[in-house]
Amino acid sequence: MKAQPKASHYINGSHVEDEQGEPIDVIYPATGETIARIHAATPNIVELAVEAAVEAQRGWARLRPVERGRILRRAADLLRERNEELARLETLDTGKPIQETLVADAPSAADALEFFGGAVAAFNGEFVDLGGSFGYTRREPLGVCLGIGAWNYPIQIAGWKSGPALAMGNAMVFKPSENTPLTALALAEIYTEAGLPDGLFNVVQGLGPVGEALTNHPRIDKISLTGSVPTGRKVLAAAGSYMKHATMELGGKSPIIVFDDADIENAVGGAMLGNFYSTGQVCSNGTRVFVQSGVRDRFLERLLERTKSIRIGDPLDPDTQMGPLVNRAQHDKVMAYIALGQSEGAHLLAGGGVPALQGFDTGCFIEPTVFGNVTDTMRIAREEIFGPVMCVLDFETEDEAIARANDTEFGLSAGVFTTDITRAHRVIGELSAGTCWINTYNLTPVELPFGGVKQSGIGRENGLAALGHYSQLKSVYVETGKVESPY
Ligand code: NAD
Repeated sequence: MKAQPKASHYINGSHVEDEQGEPIDVIYPATGETIARIHAATPNIVELAVEAAVEAQRGWARLRPVERGRILRRAADLLRERNEELARLETLDTGKPIQETLVADAPSAADALEFFGGAVAAFNGEFVDLGGSFGYTRREPLGVCLGIGAWNYPIQIAGWKSGPALAMGNAMVFKPSENTPLTALALAEIYTEAGLPDGLFNVVQGLGPVGEALTNHPRIDKISLTGSVPTGRKVLAAAGSYMKHATMELGGKSPIIVFDDADIENAVGGAMLGNFYSTGQVCSNGTRVFVQSGVRDRFLERLLERTKSIRIGDPLDPDTQMGPLVNRAQHDKVMAYIALGQSEGAHLLAGGGVPALQGFDTGCFIEPTVFGNVTDTMRIAREEIFGPVMCVLDFETEDEAIARANDTEFGLSAGVFTTDITRAHRVIGELSAGTCWINTYNLTPVELPFGGVKQSGIGRENGLAALGHYSQLKSVYVETGKVESPY
């Protein structure tokens, strides 16, 4: 299987190669096969991309928002038309099953382009009455925005960042994760085909040092990172030293609280979605599942039954529900956490091993895993594992559940399952998390802002909030009378 792109980078509307850059092999995680080889950006490539973006941005910002939006909406249509081929490419790049990539990846990027392409024309400043005189605010673009992606939702992340950035009149340089470099290049081609002027969406490849070079580049005005907390700290510190704008979408260890009165099938389904979708490689996953003691046994019984019937295997088979982890390093990290959980005294209730899959014995697969009897101090309950590992914890009272759910450095997401509507809203109001769900989990429609509090990040993607984060306000005072000067 090959998925070699035309070139490593996409700059100023064209594919660009520079073989001087460090080679990066792109591996299909289901088999370990090398499907492409690209090269990390050299300093020259970084410079070319930033220059192209600076050059293109001024003219783009002068267009009417509705004109910019029209191009984004055309790109959204092309993403949907090409969904099958993009889904296949995303599956090869990430190992995620095709039944997921068909519905959750390019379609989510398309939603972002469509939403921001439409919403931007109504996202204006305000008129301020100053009693005769008046003021107004202008929403102005920031300039050149840098997007840095993680590997779990490559094209979605590229769309969630470039959609609002471009809609607001910015240009973007996007650096995908070195693990999943392919679909951002496909998005760049689609933008060009949709009529986006050259230089507005540039893709440069590379590892951390390329991200760092771009972050520190003086012509970059804003950085939006999706990645881990340690990387977020470095990038935010660098952004701060230049006073650049920054949005950080980082990791989590989010709680799901299941009360005695919950619909158990829904709660089990939500907890499984929040732990096993994308083989558990989702930042907002609810990996600490707090279950009230009255429903504990029923919850576990149904959870284990349903977990054991998950179909794991060939990601390109439309019946497959779970694929491999993204690479060997992530696989080994998750296996080490499973061993750690056992040595910490948690009960391994399901999974925990590497499945025997004919034809895929060199893949990075791990069985969906459930730990019971987990306590708050165990490392498996405190650290982000980023794999298909669910921790189930027992609780007695609402106050206890809230206090324990909040006892973490993270604050990305939280979920509550209950049929008591007053309790649902009361508990959500007490949880320290940026993105919450009541009686469902992990749905992230573009209309709703998404992001974290505490160590899980700052800023928001999606919703009108994202347009705010890709723009700055200019205040204008208009005098309609005489200047009253004491001099
Ligand atoms: P990572 O932090 O290792 O890498 C993220 C990106 O940052 C990559 O493109 C990487 O090359 C780049 N990078 C690394 N060092 C850098 C530096 N010093 N300067 C600039 N860029 C640098 O994360 P990952 O392993 O790719 O992704 C998994 C993590 O991402 C998890 O913690 C997950 O929770 C998080 N994540 C968060 C969200 C969200 O929206 N909150 C979404 C998906 C993933």
